[in-house]
Amino acid sequence: MAPVLTNAHTHLELTGLAHLCPTKPMEFTRWIQALIREQALRTPADVRRSVERGIEELLAAGTTHVGDITATWLSVEPLLASGLRGIVWLEVLGLKRHEALERLEQAKAAIEQARRRPGSDTMRVGLTIHAPYSCHPDLFREGTTWCREADVPLCIHLAESPDEVTWLTRRAGPFGRLLRRLGLPVPPAPGLRPVLYLHRLGVLAARPLLVHMVQVTAEEVRLVAEAGCAVVHCPRSNFLLNCGRMPLEMYVAAGVPVYVGTDSRASSPSLDVREEVAFARPWHGDRVPAKVWDTMLSRPL
Ligand SMILES: [Zn+2]
Repeated sequence: MAPVLTNAHTHLELTGLAHLCPTKPMEFTRWIQALIREQALRTPADVRRSVERGIEELLAAGTTHVGDITATWLSVEPLLASGLRGIVWLEVLGLKRHEALERLEQAKAAIEQARRRPGSDTMRVGLTIHAPYSCHPDLFREGTTWCREADVPLCIHLAESPDEVTWLTRRAGPFGRLLRRLGLPVPPAPGLRPVLYLHRLGVLAARPLLVHMVQVTAEEVRLVAEAGCAVVHCPRSNFLLNCGRMPLEMYVAAGVPVYVGTDSRASSPSLDVREEVAFARPWHGDRVPAKVWDTMLSRPL
């Protein structure tokens, strides 16, 4: 059998948006705005072509396991047929409570259906609740409860940028401008840092796979370790979107399993996790032992 090579975080449907990948670090919310604008212009055919190209790129890099997020839910079928193993998560988000919960119901039905498809034993189908700045707290509460009851894998983008922390703790910074520009409602401030916020909502109890996890304190790393969650490190995306350096050494010391992910081609120059590691090693320097990198790449998802 081929050795395991895992890319634990992709958005294959964004492969065709590689022109959005910054060439030098840029502001996170400016990048998100450009992404939202471009996504609105795409047809289902564009999305399907992107997914196919993404799968080809993964296979060319020798990838055996992938963790893919799909906002359109269109990457499920191609991934089930691809021969790749791993998890594909259907994305839900929304700050308007009623709409968000309605979308959750649709996702639950789609996941139940997809779980009966051939191939869904090796390419599992899960739910992703996008991020704390884009989702109503009840979406987290209800989505998490369902994932626990139905034994469905859960994935969340968390503690990615310093702006996310500012927004959740103080309702200040560029996220406010972004939401206003998009005409979205602003729920009351949790007044808590990202990880602590999801912990208080009961989300960590579902042991979600937590993506990015850059902006964390030692206390938050302890909570994640106690909950038994794994995390995904996307170093090139973190660097290019000005999110900072993930404190990898803290996760390693706490015994938290860490995966490597490229993120999408809209914020990473390739879908090759080995290139991700080549970039990350000098960034982290001697803070982590050399053997950590191979473990991260060869951990099946
Ligand atoms: Zn992502």
